Amino acid sequence: MSAGPAAAGQRVAVVGAGIVGVAAGLFLQEDGHEVTLVDPGEPGSGTSSGNAGIISVSSIMPIVTADILTKLPAMLADPVAPLQLRWRDLPGLTPWLLRAALATRRGSVERAMAAIHGLTSRALAAHEVLIQRAGAGELFTSNGWLKVGLDRARLEKGTAAERAALDRFGVPYEVLGRDEVLDLEPALSSEVKGALWLTANREIRQPRAYVERLAALFMERGGVHRRDVARGLAMADGRVSGLLTTEGTIAADSVVIAAGAFAGRLAAAAGHRLPLQAERGYHLMLPTLASPLHRPVYCMDPGFVLAPMAHGLRLTSGVELASLEAPPDFSIPRRLLPLARRYLPGLDERVLSEWQGFRPSLPDSLPVIGRAKRHANVYLAFGHQHVGLTLGPVTGRIIADLVAGRDPGLDLTPYRPDRPFW
Ligand SMILES: Cc1cc2nc3c(=O)[nH]c(=O)nc-3n(C[C@H](O)[C@H](O)[C@H](O)COP(=O)(O)OP(=O)(O)OC[C@H]3O[C@@H](n4cnc5c(N)ncnc54)[C@H](O)[C@@H]3O)c2cc1C
Repeated sequence: MSAGPAAAGQRVAVVGAGIVGVAAGLFLQEDGHEVTLVDPGEPGSGTSSGNAGIISVSSIMPIVTADILTKLPAMLADPVAPLQLRWRDLPGLTPWLLRAALATRRGSVERAMAAIHGLTSRALAAHEVLIQRAGAGELFTSNGWLKVGLDRARLEKGTAAERAALDRFGVPYEVLGRDEVLDLEPALSSEVKGALWLTANREIRQPRAYVERLAALFMERGGVHRRDVARGLAMADGRVSGLLTTEGTIAADSVVIAAGAFAGRLAAAAGHRLPLQAERGYHLMLPTLASPLHRPVYCMDPGFVLAPMAHGLRLTSGVELASLEAPPDFSIPRRLLPLARRYLPGLDERVLSEWQGFRPSLPDSLPVIGRAKRHANVYLAFGHQHVGLTLGPVTGRIIADLVAGRDPGLDLTPYRPDRPFW
């Protein structure tokens, strides 16, 4: 397979204007390419808007682990567990679930952690480039996030594997007792018995505004946002010559597929049938507390996040597995409200708005980042599961390196689209 054309001044079409697509667009522009972002919606209005806002470079554990598998039967019977499943969609979900279960084998987990860390360890630097260029520094804080528990023994047991992984990869954290937690976050209940403080991370109180700021810079630099839906790849003389869209054809020298959980059909058109699953997630916006939180707090029993945002407190749910088309079930996050009150006695349970998004996930917890095997000028960039906000810029930078024919300084083998998924 020959490499894609490396010359600057290419016409590049990027499908998807979430954090991954917009970041890729900006890094591609830095190499002098003419970039068109193709998305029917506003930049950053998809899953990149409703997340918990954590640049979580400490999230190096794969999502599905052997420990989670042992808890699975109990979780599926518990209406507030961090994993919910729509039983009528089970037949369609089973192949992904089986592959995810196989990916929990020891060697696979070790490899996945090293590969996730390969990206997370580069994430803050890639964000910093974009933050500087867009002048978006004021959107960020660096308070780290807390994983808090109501039972000390469960907290220790529940974070043991994570602490071991963080130690191994040299990612800093602190273990806090109850009084130290309350010193940091006086609004939390005195029922809280301790916390893991993940100090390496940064936070954004307006994730959507961040992507909008990056998109505004992209437009200022001459980038185009075309409101359109990509339907397939246009071919000429045996090679990809652009995108087929609802409105027509977009001619392009290179195509980047960054359509998050919806990338499957385009990836298949590029020759890669991938087990991409949407891990659906919800948020509720609640009024800002009189005594607000200073950082996102993950409540370990049963597993949800309370994240202070610019316009309220955001309660984000765990995962719901269901088909991509299933309607939202807002009873899932609403069931968490009484539990959230145990952590935050001052919680105001009036729901200001509710939202549902799609974490794009492959069963081995790794994104797909690389060139399509059969089409040297098509690049895949999706599947960033729970950490897409964190990894969007580093992925965007890698894609620009690949388009330019530059060494990204990282072995991309673990993320390649033709890796085995068992
Ligand atoms: C509840 C929740 C909390 C989360 N918290 C965090 C967090 O704290 N930190 C973190 O790092 N990550 C978090 N995530 C994950 C993160 O939000 C996602 O991984 C990330 O937003 C994915 O970005 P993306 O650009 O791949 O996809 P998206 O933001 O979904 O963007 C994809 C875009 O592609 C467009 N598109 C789709 N199909 C087509 C097509 N055919 N043609 C044209 N356009 C198309 C869509 O309109 C969309 O705009 C969370 C996710 C959820 C659900």
